[in-house]
Amino acid sequence: MMPIVLISLVSLITIVFAVVLVPYNLKRKHIIRCARSATNEQLEAIYSNIECLGSVESTCAALARTNSRTGHDDEWKIPIPPYVETWGGRTIVLKGPEREVFEFSPEKADKAVLNGCVYRLVPVPRNLTKSGKPRNQFSPNKYVAENPALLNALGDVCAKYPAELLSVLFNPGIETFEFDSTFQARIGGSVSWVQDAEFPNCPLCKKRMVTIMQIPGGLMPGKSPDGMFYFFGCAKHQDEAKTVVQFT
Ligand SMILES: [Zn+2]
Repeated sequence: MMPIVLISLVSLITIVFAVVLVPYNLKRKHIIRCARSATNEQLEAIYSNIECLGSVESTCAALARTNSRTGHDDEWKIPIPPYVETWGGRTIVLKGPEREVFEFSPEKADKAVLNGCVYRLVPVPRNLTKSGKPRNQFSPNKYVAENPALLNALGDVCAKYPAELLSVLFNPGIETFEFDSTFQARIGGSVSWVQDAEFPNCPLCKKRMVTIMQIPGGLMPGKSPDGMFYFFGCAKHQDEAKTVVQFT
């Protein structure tokens, strides 16, 4: 009796593997190959299309993939775009030899570079809700629905899976075509917690600190895709800033 049960179980696992996992992985690899072969012009056509979305001005940026490298693998710096409230114009770097904590740098950066890879800072579309409150639209799936020109630009890079390509571009922390906000690199706006919310308090005024940035572990030096690195500050005491790390 036992061998039959065992053989059935092995067959079932093999069928699941062949029917579900293999096609999923082939699709994933195809989209990633397309993303890696995109030219700067093709990616710029995609990102500039997203800049036109949103009914109110953006206050937050997302880091999206490019295929440019600086040639210095240990280079890591993020300029905060001017439209990000309070922190716009500053540059974030990694502190000390451990390089696990963020800090502001007096040196200005002209582009976002993480581990030698260049990222495009894309303003996150912001719309008014029915009650008139502005809200950031982080999910790239929504961008495509609102914008046929964007779909064309994506189709230029990946004709078969244009919408999924956008998720790959906006999920630089991991190679998946299913968008997950906990793998998004974000400047300003709100954070996407991996665990329960853990806002630090300002050591001077004791008030809850506000979001400066979230960076997935996969974009930190030598880190695995696990975890998220958050950076918070106090609008009143702008030299006080704290890094919080959470793991799944
Ligand atoms: Zn304070």
